[in-house]
Amino acid sequence: PSEAQDHGGSKISHGSVRDICNIVVTSMKENLTPLLRQYKSIKERFKDTILFFRMGDFYEMFYEDAIIASRVLEITLTTRDKRSPNPVPMCGIPYHAINSYLPRLIREGHKVAICEQVENPADAKGIVRREVIKIVTPGTLLDGDILEPGDNNFIAAIYGRGPSGLAFMDISTGDFFITEADSLKDIITELARIEPKEIILSPRVDINDFIKRQPYRICINTYPEEVFKNSRSIEEIEKYIAPEDKVNPSPVDLSLKAASALIFYLKETQKTALRNINTVRILRTEEYMIIDEPTRNNLEIVRSMRGDRKGSLFHHMDRTLTPMGGRLLKYWILHPLMDVHEIRARQNAVEELVKNFSLREEIRDILNGIYDMERIISRITLKAANGRDLVALRRCIEALPDLRRLISSFSSSLFKRILEMLDPLEDLGKLIAHGIVESPPVSITEGGIIRDGYNEELDELRTLSREAKRWLASFEAKERKRTGIDSLKVRYNRVFGYYIEVTKANLKYVPQDYTRKQTLVNAERFITPELKDYESKILSAEERIKELEYSLFENIRERVSGEVRRVQKCAKAVALVDALSSLADLSHRHNYVKPAVDESLHILIRDGRHPVVEAMEGSERFVPNDTEMDCEGRRIMILTGPNMAGKSTYMRQVALIVLMAQMGSFVPAREATIGIVDRIFTRIGASDNLAGGKSTFMVEMEETAHIVRNATTRSLILLDEIGRGTSTFDGISIAWATAEYINRHIKAKTLFATHYHELTDLSLTEEGIFNAFMAVREWNEEVIFLRRIMPGISDKSYGIQVAKLAGLPDAILKRAKEVLASLEEGEFDTEGKPRLARTNKGKYGSLQFDLFTQPLNHPVLEEIRGLDILNMTPLQALSKLEELKRRLKDESI
Ligand code: ADP
Repeated sequence: PSEAQDHGGSKISHGSVRDICNIVVTSMKENLTPLLRQYKSIKERFKDTILFFRMGDFYEMFYEDAIIASRVLEITLTTRDKRSPNPVPMCGIPYHAINSYLPRLIREGHKVAICEQVENPADAKGIVRREVIKIVTPGTLLDGDILEPGDNNFIAAIYGRGPSGLAFMDISTGDFFITEADSLKDIITELARIEPKEIILSPRVDINDFIKRQPYRICINTYPEEVFKNSRSIEEIEKYIAPEDKVNPSPVDLSLKAASALIFYLKETQKTALRNINTVRILRTEEYMIIDEPTRNNLEIVRSMRGDRKGSLFHHMDRTLTPMGGRLLKYWILHPLMDVHEIRARQNAVEELVKNFSLREEIRDILNGIYDMERIISRITLKAANGRDLVALRRCIEALPDLRRLISSFSSSLFKRILEMLDPLEDLGKLIAHGIVESPPVSITEGGIIRDGYNEELDELRTLSREAKRWLASFEAKERKRTGIDSLKVRYNRVFGYYIEVTKANLKYVPQDYTRKQTLVNAERFITPELKDYESKILSAEERIKELEYSLFENIRERVSGEVRRVQKCAKAVALVDALSSLADLSHRHNYVKPAVDESLHILIRDGRHPVVEAMEGSERFVPNDTEMDCEGRRIMILTGPNMAGKSTYMRQVALIVLMAQMGSFVPAREATIGIVDRIFTRIGASDNLAGGKSTFMVEMEETAHIVRNATTRSLILLDEIGRGTSTFDGISIAWATAEYINRHIKAKTLFATHYHELTDLSLTEEGIFNAFMAVREWNEEVIFLRRIMPGISDKSYGIQVAKLAGLPDAILKRAKEVLASLEEGEFDTEGKPRLARTNKGKYGSLQFDLFTQPLNHPVLEEIRGLDILNMTPLQALSKLEELKRRLKDESI
């Protein structure tokens, strides 16, 4: 039995509700109705779910489930058995509205068990038999209405504590990956990339910190060790490992265990064979650039700092036209490549598309009409597809010949491979075209799905049914004539079947052989033996039609399902074309160039731009800037310049250009050469983690520690000010030592923005450290940002001018200028504290100064202490005394 618990998906939290329910439950124990007894025996097995209990046309929920559901779904909470002293809380939804209610519970992190009536109520002796046919959970969704089209919906399983294994899959697309890492921390980096909605853990794994950091709810299931060690499912998964992944074996032991639990869980919840899972890919994290969680957030790769898609790099880059293209592009952006050949293969394909405007537009026209083939075929294999899904698949298939024709005119190797993958699937297209009507209904049990001419028996039944209807019309005419009642009608309803309706005024003309069935206000309803005879014929023909259509439909669906691999492969090919054409379209629109990528340690960017800032509406014209870095003379750039000058934008633009280049995209620059980067690290902004009990400074230091421990010479590091949350001298010292350490020991290319101008002195002694600044011009006491990066050091910080731009009151600005002037005269006391009080030259100015000064620490005293009197001539002593007296006098002015 499952031990599943729900940590993340905050189950009902108010204790009072639980208490009420407990009272209700205990008091009901002895005296349950048979229905509630059945309910409780089922609920017992699905404790951690909300049970949708089918009763006729409704799904009902009881007890605690009803209380939760009524709150989340905003539906009325009622009670069953109102007369009882402890009525049972209850609420319900119409069965056909399940798709509008279910997603809301799932999004809140709940799991829902769907319990259906599994026998015809008419045949039931006593209570109708019911069974849970499926459990819907956040990580096992299939339905197109619930899922985000452009996002994978991953469920993951983790095994191990030190070295750990990860398995994750998207049941709606059939994508299944396994991977291993030396530490749980690296697994979490991968988890953060894939954003799973649900996770299965062995009891020893603790990832609470990760879960707390996520902006959305993750549903957690904990299973005992045995579930992870099932040798049968491990063997099964091993069989599915893609042949190309077997060539180059890597450790998979732990990840197979994770996968085994995943398979177990999916079987438990889906209650059907998962035929859309037939390829397991080994994800070799070492083949991808690592982008850890803070960096992903700081660079706003898939989400902006505010948490929206808008404003992110992905949102800017995504010009895909199909859901599978969108998902692939997102995967690419989160997994930039490290292999030069693979990157060039993508680039060359993009280049062909960029150069062929009209071909590209034709291709994009076709892509526009292609639906989510991956999710459709998954629904087909899981028997969740209806006639409309099959028609949608057929339409996709019909677009393939044109797509193949257009692609065959390209010569790059990637397009050649795509062409091989792009199975035209003609057989399936024909099968569906012959079998399924153009616009089938949503339901698959009510007929109207199968085309005329597909099946002889069906055609015959349909003729019979049509003729029966004609017979009814003539029967009506005949009876009107016989009785002389012109308003006589022959009609049908579900309770009485066919009947003859006669208005009250005409009752006197009703013949003897009519049998009365029902009396209404204005009319009466009758039947005749002849009518009943025909009725049974018509109804049985219609019943038979529905049954036959359903089985024919199932047969077609099964046959398509048997070709799942071919369809999935073809869908991947379409996704590739879409992702590549999206990159080409983007690059054409924004004037990007193809960067050269190589295995050097250089980065050379001419006229680089920030892709997202540049494209922002209503912003100033973007000023391009160069970047030239290597791992020798130009390793660490100390970047100074006032606030708002554009330092962060510049640093981010370098990182984004590298990332885009490694995903195979063109880049916003006039020219670029990128030596492969293995990791991008960022330490940007004040990411307070007060909720996690850590100060800004603490978080900053932890991030810095993480960077210096993990960076390699091949890494790119962005440091936007470190050491700010402590005293100036502390801060400078930490920043200084960090820069020195990176330069001497790691030798990674580093962009280091700072307000500590002291750090620019590093370039004097450290080979590899150089200075650059963001140029500004001063005009009429205002700063004008030039947005240009220049070699050297910025002269001032212009903080006050920037503060003015921000609207700080004049009084504060004026006083700040005074303080600044005095500080700039170098007036620090012996401890390095500014002597601010002295600038206020009031009556007691110098008196205050005296009070603040510790006499014992005065420099003059220091000097006297240090005098070697025995070795001084009297004249020397006299003139020293004179000098000290003068200094004391000067200082007290
Ligand atoms: P800093 O990090 O120096 O405080 P930012 O990088 O945050 O400055 O830049 C401040 C603003 O200047 C940004 O909002 C951006 O819109 C604008 N900006 C930055 N760089 C450029 C540029 N090269 N061209 C045009 N606008 C820029």
